[in-house]
Amino acid sequence: MPNEALGKAVDVLVRSRHAVALVGAGISAESGIPTFRGPSGLWSNAQRLEAFDFGRFQQNPEDWWENILSQWGQMWSLFWQTLEAAEPSLGHYALAELETLGIIKHVLTQNVDGLHQKAGTRSLTELHGSFRNFRCVRCGTRSPIGDFIEQLAPALVFKQFPPRCSQCQSVLKPDAVFFGENLPSDTLHSFALHSALTDCLLLIGTSAFIRYVVEVAQDVKSYHGALVEINPEKTALTDICDIVIPAAAGTVLPEFVVRIRGLSA
Ligand code: NAD
Ligand code: ZN
Repeated sequence: MPNEALGKAVDVLVRSRHAVALVGAGISAESGIPTFRGPSGLWSNAQRLEAFDFGRFQQNPEDWWENILSQWGQMWSLFWQTLEAAEPSLGHYALAELETLGIIKHVLTQNVDGLHQKAGTRSLTELHGSFRNFRCVRCGTRSPIGDFIEQLAPALVFKQFPPRCSQCQSVLKPDAVFFGENLPSDTLHSFALHSALTDCLLLIGTSAFIRYVVEVAQDVKSYHGALVEINPEKTALTDICDIVIPAAAGTVLPEFVVRIRGLSA
């Protein structure tokens, strides 16, 4: 691990007023959840693109639910079981610890796996929602998927089908943001707030192919905030980062914790 870059990053973090972590699928690769572009194809085949298409859901939510259990039931089960089996990685736990130490003020995650909460992160925005919750597209109420599920195999079976919102009785969709769906307004608000406040943005395990990830990094840079990247591979943002640590999140973040604890000992 590059010692000099690590030292510089710790220095910047300790001096920052509002350090924010912007996290991608890389941190969860160490929890056994494949990245978007990774080899397993958990996310990227054509059936998935079709199933998680917002236009299709909007056209007829009842039909969408029929399809997910009949045509796409195996896929949905695989998704759910992969998430259920996953435990937070060392990187997730270290990020939660950095919040407790008062260093990280907020985590903006692109991940939909719920592992940040499981690791103990409190100040969190799930930019793309979560596959652990349902969300009402009419009133925005979120509810844990577990409240609706009777059993898992061979496909998911719901106590009540299709699942309906307890507030307005509309048909629910998974909280995860589908292809073609806008981010919910509370998410956008939180994203804008923490992006504007940050003077140190940690880019962790994201390939930065989503436009707003690139834009927030460029904004932070233009206001003289520090950009720190933790990623074993080069990304679209590597060249504009102030500090680049080309290593795994599960190695680097625990090392931050050790060094920062060491400063106050
Ligand atoms: P991505 O798959 O495009 O990129 C993952 C990045 O992580 C790569 O740059 C890779 O080099 C890096 N990486 C791999 N292992 C790492 C490690 N141990 N430590 C640090 N970095 C590591 O992921 P993305 O940029 O998050 O975009 C994918 C999109 O798909 C997201 O918008 C997300 O919503 C969704 N997605 C979510 C999950 C999840 O919830 N776990 C998983 C896959 C995809
Ligand atoms: Zn509702």
